[in-house]
Amino acid sequence: MISKEKSKYSKKFNSLIDKIREYNSGVEKDIPLIWKTYIFAKKGHANQFRLSGEPYFEHLYQTAIILTELSMDTTTICAGLLHDILEDTDYSKKTIASEFSDTIADIVEGVTKISDIKFNSQEDKQANNFRKMLLSVANDIRVIIVKFADRLNNMRTLDIMIKSKQERISLETRDIYAPLAHRLGMYKIKSEFEELSFKFLEPERYKFLQQHLHKNKKYIDKYIIEFQKTIENSLKKSNINATIIGRIKNLSSINKKMNKQNIDFDKIYDILAIRIMVDSVTNCYAVLGIIHQQFKPIAERFKDFIATQKTNGYQSVHTTVIGPEGKNVEVQIRTHEMNRIAETGIAAHWKYKESDGNINEIDNKILWLRELIDILKTDPNSSNDFMETLKIDLFKEEIFVFTPKGDLITLPQKATALDFAFAVHTEVGLSCIGSKVNSKIVTLNTMLSSGDKVEILTSKNIKPSYNWLKFVKTNRAKSRIKRWFQKNEFDESVALGKEIFEKNLRKLKMADKIKPLLARHEEMGFQTQSLLYQAIGNGKITVKELLDNYCDEEKEIKEDGIKPFNVFSRIFRSTSNGVTIQGVDNVMVNFAKCCSPIPGDDIVGYITRGKGITIHRSDCKNIPTKEEEVDRLIDVNWDKNIDYTFYSHLNILCENRNGMVSDISNVIQNMKTSIASINMKTEGPIVQGNIIIIVDNLKHTKNVIKNIKKINGIIKINRI
Ligand code: MN
Repeated sequence: MISKEKSKYSKKFNSLIDKIREYNSGVEKDIPLIWKTYIFAKKGHANQFRLSGEPYFEHLYQTAIILTELSMDTTTICAGLLHDILEDTDYSKKTIASEFSDTIADIVEGVTKISDIKFNSQEDKQANNFRKMLLSVANDIRVIIVKFADRLNNMRTLDIMIKSKQERISLETRDIYAPLAHRLGMYKIKSEFEELSFKFLEPERYKFLQQHLHKNKKYIDKYIIEFQKTIENSLKKSNINATIIGRIKNLSSINKKMNKQNIDFDKIYDILAIRIMVDSVTNCYAVLGIIHQQFKPIAERFKDFIATQKTNGYQSVHTTVIGPEGKNVEVQIRTHEMNRIAETGIAAHWKYKESDGNINEIDNKILWLRELIDILKTDPNSSNDFMETLKIDLFKEEIFVFTPKGDLITLPQKATALDFAFAVHTEVGLSCIGSKVNSKIVTLNTMLSSGDKVEILTSKNIKPSYNWLKFVKTNRAKSRIKRWFQKNEFDESVALGKEIFEKNLRKLKMADKIKPLLARHEEMGFQTQSLLYQAIGNGKITVKELLDNYCDEEKEIKEDGIKPFNVFSRIFRSTSNGVTIQGVDNVMVNFAKCCSPIPGDDIVGYITRGKGITIHRSDCKNIPTKEEEVDRLIDVNWDKNIDYTFYSHLNILCENRNGMVSDISNVIQNMKTSIASINMKTEGPIVQGNIIIIVDNLKHTKNVIKNIKKINGIIKINRI
């Protein structure tokens, strides 16, 4: 049956189909469609020839062949055959859509668009083009795969071109296509891109390395074979089945290494690579163990991408060992499946269902693909033919933004201006006061989108805020902010710990034990007294625990005396400064400066040594949460009939324009509100200010904030 069918088609066409059959048994029903595109492309480009004299169609055919090597689906193969039809013939996208399908037409149009992007080697333009390219193809990954195949065939046939064209195309391949292939995990294509562009960009150098390798070829070949044999024998002894491939590294990577280390070819030992493929992850590590037993590994060159896979899905263990005669040999160990993914990258993640040849399952090892699958699964409109509905936003996980100089910075999606600041430099982040996105001043929590140009405004007077942790998205920013707080809070914890420690012991009438106990800090596991205080201050260790372990003779007394503030368990009602405190009589009350509570705020009291009770807003970050200190918190309420006034602290960020400060103070005064203090600092294009107003209650403050917000040029206003 098949042989009869076959006769309808040309031999060349049949060999294309045979290649598809190797990975897609369901291709049979698609043959008429593929044949139709094949003929359409052949006729469409009938009078066109390549410089070599070949019919232009040969380029299209070879592009399709490369796509079969990437195991691509029928739609992509058809688009590959038609990829130059819009550019080089009079056919319109509409015609292609009606003759074939909308998807094929879309992909062909995408490929044509990429070809329109003119590459410029100037640094800023380069980043810009890169971005444009990414954005233009972001809606269907197959566009870029067809473009890769097109470019690979062009690179392979570049010899015939004039030198200037060779250089332009090679530069583009090296600086744009190779990194992009790397990003997509398509290592085989990436390394061919690099090798070919090196050949055309530095022909002399390429030839020189080639000749050197050739001279040493016999020796190298023998070396590799012997090394391979040694490993094979050891693996056999351990009953491990493995495929071992030995090779000389690419000339482009040898060249890179020579330039980097500034050494001669003869001194480069790093040209040999061995790849070992086994059937399971367990065996990968077994092989690693065997090799390390036999050859000394170079510790800093060991990388385990199996335990931690790269974001593009790449998995393998890399180790470099010192082989016979002191030569470095790089050994890559992986499973066969990992190898398939490493060679074809993203393309490897489309799997064919045996029965119908449709691609409706995507390997869910890649995180961002998994996310996408979830969306498609929950969307009832997504059809069974997964590939056809698959519009991958390739860079879904990441956004690309630019520094004022045009440097490209990659951030996760929903990253904010503050994340950007930390990505530029920790110091920039820690002293970040505001930012400009596309020349407009915005707040630090503004989310960035691809293509934004971001400028960070810094100030020496700024300190990080806890609030920052609520909106930063990158781990880098989070950890840098936390580290800053850890460092700065140390002193605070030490002071608090000292206070708690001494107070508890006095309470227990054990003041005489303070010094002897402190002297034993090392015994307790603390190098210094400060560290002991810090542990008490941040609740890592309680005074009770210390006494239990280091002060046996006093055990009985402290058991019930340890609750230091049970003196408050009697119920009193006391009114002081407008606050009702349960259980406390005649106690000094003051309002915390960190949060300046005003009537209407939810509040809580904190018993402070020597200062009575400090009233905080219940959402104040300075309220301790550790068990040891929670004992000191006490319920408080606002007195219903207060006739006090309160200070309310406002923090303002606004544009630096004429009359700004007077506009703000006018608004406040028009509301019959007094200003206790106003302090504005200019930081280039923005002004940062602290204003203390005198208010009756929370509602009063809120009204003032509302009215200030209406002033033109206010970026942000909030209570401290
Ligand atoms: Mn082409």
